[in-house]
Amino acid sequence: MPAEITTLLTFFGGTGDLAKRKLYPSTYNLFKKGFLQEHFAVIGTARQELTTEEFHEMVRESIADFVEDQANAEEFISHFYYIQQDITDANGYAAMLDLNNELDAKYSLKGNRIFYMSVAPRFFGTVAKYLKSEGLITENGEYNRLMIEKPFGTSFGTAEALQNELSEAFEDAQIFRIDHYLGKEMVQNIAAVRFGNPLFDAAWNKDYIENIQVTLSEVLGVEERAGYYDTAGALRDMIQNHTMQIVGWLAMEKPASFKDVDIRAAKNAAFNSLKIYNREEVAENFVRGQYGESADGTQKKYLDEMDVPADSQNNTFVAGKLQFEMDRWEGVPFYIRSGKRLAAKSTRVDVVFKKGLNIFGGDVELANPVLTILIDPKGGIEFKINAKDVTSEFLTRVVNLNWTVSDEDKKLTPEPYERMIHDAMDGNGSNFADWNGVAIAWKFVDAIQEAWDATREQFPNYVSGSMGPEASNDLLAKDGNEWVFKG
Ligand code: NAD
Repeated sequence: MPAEITTLLTFFGGTGDLAKRKLYPSTYNLFKKGFLQEHFAVIGTARQELTTEEFHEMVRESIADFVEDQANAEEFISHFYYIQQDITDANGYAAMLDLNNELDAKYSLKGNRIFYMSVAPRFFGTVAKYLKSEGLITENGEYNRLMIEKPFGTSFGTAEALQNELSEAFEDAQIFRIDHYLGKEMVQNIAAVRFGNPLFDAAWNKDYIENIQVTLSEVLGVEERAGYYDTAGALRDMIQNHTMQIVGWLAMEKPASFKDVDIRAAKNAAFNSLKIYNREEVAENFVRGQYGESADGTQKKYLDEMDVPADSQNNTFVAGKLQFEMDRWEGVPFYIRSGKRLAAKSTRVDVVFKKGLNIFGGDVELANPVLTILIDPKGGIEFKINAKDVTSEFLTRVVNLNWTVSDEDKKLTPEPYERMIHDAMDGNGSNFADWNGVAIAWKFVDAIQEAWDATREQFPNYVSGSMGPEASNDLLAKDGNEWVFKG
């Protein structure tokens, strides 16, 4: 049994889709594993009127697929409390304060509180303000923490305004900004592979690495999300957050220890050196795309999707080159791309190492060794290296050493949300985005968006089912490189 965590966990948006699909099952898994035992309570709060019994039934249904022992599940559910509240009304918080204090005493929770904001982003600042002004943040607790859903702003300006609101109530070390990609097993594996093997650790720099590629490709189109997506695009929906956070693990300096403060400091050393582009540099280093029909005509173009304005200039594909102005990465491009309606669904990192000098002579053609970390949908690690061909002359060929996450491993792997709730309860911020990283990612992305807003592009410019516009391939070809993953 692991050490028990003592906490009062409050879910704002407690009747929402995310709470039901992810947050309650994840909390239940933490109970099954013994992280939560007796000294915990969970409050769900939302606008709907629900009795305790109705709320318990909602939680029961949401965890049903994970229950092996109904008595154990009922024990878990008995720790759940519901409070109906309009979170924009300060007066509603008095009842919540009473319930917090009552549960604190009943379960001996030591004033430890986690407030999880699973509500629309426009409420984040308001809730933080009232948590402070209405006395919900304890003075005597071991901790008070805020977990906050995405998106964190829609530009640097809006993110900064939100950050200022939050910091009236919470210090940055108390704020756990969710980026569920950071909770993924294989994203966390980047650190294990890089820092766990002196071979890779020593070679993780401009002397041995030619370029690094991060791909987050989707097969699906915009589906029913155009209302939101048309205002965000791939740039703000996928690049600013998930892609940049993955890049953080790849580009960071080696941390002094694996503690969150050291990890954040090492990541920030890289983020602070990211070159922010001017308009000409955006045109040189970034490519935008919008999907057209599929070759067989069965999939429609973005502009014909429901709720998409007929003249939309929104990007459904982004490819770009990042440059870190630090000694480690001098001259090493980081290529990133993300898009909808691409040939394959894949989240992956390809680290392209430099070619060796050919001492073999003759017709030997050495390839770039490539280390690939497969994140989704199939986890795994591949390492393509040069080895001898079987022919009688001395020739080489590429062999692929690979490992795939087994079904057994998958069963044991916590869901990102389970891991993130656990880490926040544990006070470990390693796998959460900190303000400095978020701010720089927004400044970087804003510069691109501004440059794009100033010019019109001829859309659509890629066929659904391809790997994006030809300009994405040209971007790498200019540097003498090519995408490792071709769909
Ligand atoms: P949802 O619309 O299903 O639920 C919203 C919840 O907020 C409901 O419980 C509702 O009662 C409550 N609420 C709304 N206005 C309120 C008010 N004035 N007072 C009190 N409660 C109020 O939303 P969701 O899909 O659960 O998403 C919640 C958050 O999580 C959002 O920030 C979203 O961006 C983020 N998110 C959701 C998902 C997902 O898969 N659903 C994934 C990633 C991030």
